[in-house]
Amino acid sequence: MNLHKLLLTKNDCYVTGKIITPAGIMVHSTGANNPSLKRYVGPDDGLLGVNTAGNYWNQPKPDGRQVCVHGFIGKLKDGSIATYQTLPWNMRGWHCGGKANDTHIGFEICEDALTDKNYFMSVYNEAVQLCAYLCKQYNIKPEKPSLICHSEGYTLGLATNHSDVMHWFPKFGKSMDTFRADVAKALSQTAASTSAAPTAPAATTAPPAGASPNAPAAAAKTPGLDTPVLSSAAATLSAAQAWAKGKGSTDTFVSLAQIYWENAGAHGAVNPQIAYAQSAFETSYGKFGGLLDESFCNPCGMKTANGGSDTDKNDSQKFANWTDGVNAHLDHIALYGGAAGYPRANTTDPRHFASLYGTGKTVETLSKSWCPGNANYADTLIKVVNEMGTINPADVKTPEEITVDNAIADGILTDKNYWLNVLNGTQAANKDYVKIVLDNAHKKING
Ligand SMILES: [Zn+2]
Repeated sequence: MNLHKLLLTKNDCYVTGKIITPAGIMVHSTGANNPSLKRYVGPDDGLLGVNTAGNYWNQPKPDGRQVCVHGFIGKLKDGSIATYQTLPWNMRGWHCGGKANDTHIGFEICEDALTDKNYFMSVYNEAVQLCAYLCKQYNIKPEKPSLICHSEGYTLGLATNHSDVMHWFPKFGKSMDTFRADVAKALSQTAASTSAAPTAPAATTAPPAGASPNAPAAAAKTPGLDTPVLSSAAATLSAAQAWAKGKGSTDTFVSLAQIYWENAGAHGAVNPQIAYAQSAFETSYGKFGGLLDESFCNPCGMKTANGGSDTDKNDSQKFANWTDGVNAHLDHIALYGGAAGYPRANTTDPRHFASLYGTGKTVETLSKSWCPGNANYADTLIKVVNEMGTINPADVKTPEEITVDNAIADGILTDKNYWLNVLNGTQAANKDYVKIVLDNAHKKING
């Protein structure tokens, strides 16, 4: 699979940002003869090519419609096939106009003229790989009704009446049944290859051998001050995201969780939950407001190689992007934790000093080195880590829900679902303003 990521952050669906627990996958195809990814995904990242019409889906209502999917499969500008992830996998998509939006990840295969067998087989195989990857990540069975296409969703009463993808697959001897069988086969192959490696269970990328001997033991008990920084996270990615949302974090900060969870395995098998909790402190849940702002892509207050003061922002490291920033943070903790293979040669960590190796192996000792001036740092950190680990994503209310619930309790509004739809739909652009008005009214009424 040739997986890339370009989140459609300007789409109303992304802005609404509802979290789901993915329980299925729905396969779509676009219904228009245009195999180029750039038609739907943009702006150009150098691989996609320029969409001169500017009609890609990274806008509030693409083609005037409330639509958004989790990914697209199609052609890059050089003609090769790629998958682009366009929403966090656990964000509610607007892909099928029915109940499956609450449960299913939905992606589109870009259609061509439906006569080119080579193109079809390439995108079919890419879709098989994508589904195997998602089935593994979210423990989804490649069976009906958890792995279906849009037309099957209609038959099952879960989606609107569309014919994709069964108007296309049979032209080349394929169907959703062959597709499910191919995904199952791909899954059994990955299972066979990964079960041979004795690596940490939570890591999506295999850590270096021997990097996390403590992982299984640490996962078994409640994290405490003695928890190794190299250990498994008790919180799933979706729990961490739900936790962050419940704290009123910025969208950017919520999206960082995925980078922490996905990259921790390849960066010393650091416990992503500890790193993410630290990042919440250091960035004020992504709001910054101190010395730095989002443009630094610095999730942990990392200084430059030369270090310097806490009052001059030029002494803080500016990273090229969030992935570099998060990887630097993970590498820095891995170094403290004494991970195998550290200090590492290729790192974005500007302060990767060999002298730090192994000097902060637990939450307590890491905290002493990280924030020597704050005696409560370790206690606060572990409290947050545990808060994240015990959260049930389904129980977490969005800031909008809290606001509307308050307004209903105050007798200002009556219909919760109606007002959530207004806030997330027609008034999405004014959402913050409406929230402030309602919050102020709530404070006035309740003293
Ligand atoms: Zn569809």
